[in-house]
Amino acid sequence: MTRKIAVLPGDGIGTEIVAEALKVLDCLRQDFGLAVETEEALIGGAAYDAKGTPFPEETLSLCQAADAVLLGAVGGPKWESLDYSVRPERGLLGLRSELELFANLRPAILYPQLVGASTLKPEVVSGLDILIIRELTGGIYFGQPRGRRINEKGQREGYNTLVYSESEIRRIGHIAFQTAQKRNRRVCSVDKANVLECTELWREVMIEVSKDYPDVALSHMYVDNAAMQLVRAPKQFDVMVTENMFGDILSDCAAMLTGSIGMLPSASLDQNGKGMYEPIHGSAPDIAGKGIANPIATILSVAMLLRYSFDDAASAERIERAVVAALDAGLRTTDIYSEGTRKVDTAEMGDAIVSALRASNS
Ligand code: NAD
Repeated sequence: MTRKIAVLPGDGIGTEIVAEALKVLDCLRQDFGLAVETEEALIGGAAYDAKGTPFPEETLSLCQAADAVLLGAVGGPKWESLDYSVRPERGLLGLRSELELFANLRPAILYPQLVGASTLKPEVVSGLDILIIRELTGGIYFGQPRGRRINEKGQREGYNTLVYSESEIRRIGHIAFQTAQKRNRRVCSVDKANVLECTELWREVMIEVSKDYPDVALSHMYVDNAAMQLVRAPKQFDVMVTENMFGDILSDCAAMLTGSIGMLPSASLDQNGKGMYEPIHGSAPDIAGKGIANPIATILSVAMLLRYSFDDAASAERIERAVVAALDAGLRTTDIYSEGTRKVDTAEMGDAIVSALRASNS
């Protein structure tokens, strides 16, 4: 059965890094018999320019029909003065909610070759391999009521609502425990149960879900402590699971432990394991068009796609080993360059990874 991947390069460096990811998919198809086909569509600013909307109907149809989605990045200064309703980022939010991608998986892995690129001491981060699971479609970013008003004292007031139903908590809980079963069997649930009733319920439901997974150890941590522990001793974690806003903040913090935003992939999954895969970084307008962006986060997003949506761990590992081989050979894009290594551009890095992939077949 040939599976279909919807490919949405987007804006800025999006087109440059996705081109390298497609080379990797082509190699897997030609040399390893991977049965996938790809079809491209517009999203973000590029879609706005061509169609007057950041999220055209045909892009949604393609993504709904496909088995998985690979995205580059959206946004850029060119579209910053547009109304919020047609900003490039609306395309991404629209896709997440239309496809009900409620589980955001963000691994933070430090490759031994890049230990010097982290701002933390090598002994704190070397060997780091953690996974943050963020609830993506609920919580304070979506809760009603929300807005701004004038209060009875005549002052401007802003308000948002943190709300989760138990089914929303339960489904992200199951993802966390099932993912931990494929890793080191530990889940740390992050909440603020001492002050927020909503996250008190979060903790309660996580404990209930844990009963289905006796082989996984569950612990709890308040979000303020979790932020501190992430920079103090990040290797204590295996899988962290948390609500939308806490996850937004903690996952960026974890990303920086690894040195470069250009190295980290992510997955956003629905109830059935269908997902959208993308690098965690944005469209990097400051380097767009220069051919120097790091394509590794996007290439590793393809590995995640194969692992989580196509259940093809062997192909995923092949890609991951090829990335390690390119790093071992001393190749570095500008963002991860250090003395004694060889600086390469986006296409050279992509080609080196494809060569390593091909070599692993001989
Ligand atoms: P950014 O992630 O695009 O860039 C931050 C910094 O990291 C920049 O200096 C950039 O050059 C560098 N960088 C990012 N990716 C890199 C890569 N692969 N290789 C080398 N260096 C890389 O964040 P930003 O500058 O805050 O945002 C730029 C635009 O991207 C904005 O319009 C923003 O809304 C959008 N954005 C989109 C997404 C997404 O599509 N998922 C995520 C974040 C930001």
